[in-house]
Amino acid sequence: MSPWIHRAVQAINADFNRSADTHLIKLDIPGCPDVDLYLKDESTHPTGSLKHRLARSLFLYGLCNGWIHEGTTIIESSSGSTAVSEAYFARLLRLPFIAVIPKGTSPKKISAIEFYGGRCHFVEPMEIYEESRRLASELNGHYMDQFTFAERATDWRGNNNIAESMFEQLAKEQHPDPSWVVMSAGTGGTTATIGRYIRYGCHHTKLCLADPENSVFAAFFENRNPDVKVRCSSRIEGIGRPRVEPSFKPDVIDRAIVVKDAATIAAIRVLEKLMNRKCGGSTGTNLIATWQIMSEMQQRGEAGSVVTLICDAGDRYLETYYDDAWVAKQGLDLKEPEAAIEAFIAKGSPLPSCLLAVS
Ligand SMILES: *Cc1c(COP(=O)(O)O)cnc(C)c1O
Repeated sequence: MSPWIHRAVQAINADFNRSADTHLIKLDIPGCPDVDLYLKDESTHPTGSLKHRLARSLFLYGLCNGWIHEGTTIIESSSGSTAVSEAYFARLLRLPFIAVIPKGTSPKKISAIEFYGGRCHFVEPMEIYEESRRLASELNGHYMDQFTFAERATDWRGNNNIAESMFEQLAKEQHPDPSWVVMSAGTGGTTATIGRYIRYGCHHTKLCLADPENSVFAAFFENRNPDVKVRCSSRIEGIGRPRVEPSFKPDVIDRAIVVKDAATIAAIRVLEKLMNRKCGGSTGTNLIATWQIMSEMQQRGEAGSVVTLICDAGDRYLETYYDDAWVAKQGLDLKEPEAAIEAFIAKGSPLPSCLLAVS
């Protein structure tokens, strides 16, 4: 092994050793007294999202496979958050980094990539894969390819992956084995890790996919047609894909719920009143599906716990999900979903079916 690779692996491990784990937050839902809700807060990583874990895993995977060497240009196709986290690790290892990102990615994410010394290369959403491959061969660089490698770069048995961390933090709760974990998918890497960990640990927990509008994952989960496509891209940054990604593993998922975008945005706005902080859009998608499951459990008289994720914070989305003019321009009306969510939280009223879509 080259001395540089040795130093690079040590640098990533030392960075990890200096890092703290993310919090598991318990959120009171007065209308649902028998079901405890926990939020794994992934917004507190140094680069602000759950992609910090993925970037660390992808760099270690690339280094240990002999794909990344001193001076290798790192290239990634990303809608933003992965590129921000990879730019952080590229800078740690002093490697050049290029993010191939769709036009229209939020300016905050672009400046975060550039803050860590990365360069942004803008293309049409459907061209990010081909262009990344082309750039990698032109520059003799390494294409990280999160959509292929996310599911295998992370050690699903443990090694402080997100699932192990969640289950250990639940250990002293009233219901330490959650009835459900609810999570949306971008690469599908996080649902793959959680689903495999549940089986490996022989937990009775079930895994629910929360999918936004304009995504193929829920449909693929239902009918297993790998060629399913949608034309528009998802409005909820980080989740929902126009094609089935190789890292998305439907066999470890027990159920899929499709959440309307208006309900997603209403959820993070109501959440701000409960937590006094703003969270990203995918957190809203996760929450609507979670609240649907909690409401069903409460109606059946079932006690237990449910876990979902805060994937990133809301400060990156002040010009979109938190901007009334942007919401109106999208043709979305938040009044009805907000009222329905408030009624669920206060009195346990079941969420109306108009917050959900059919896959
Ligand atoms: C990537 C991402 C997700 C989904 O995580 P995957 O492990 O890629 O499926 C959810 N929310 C945000 C903000 C993301 O960036």
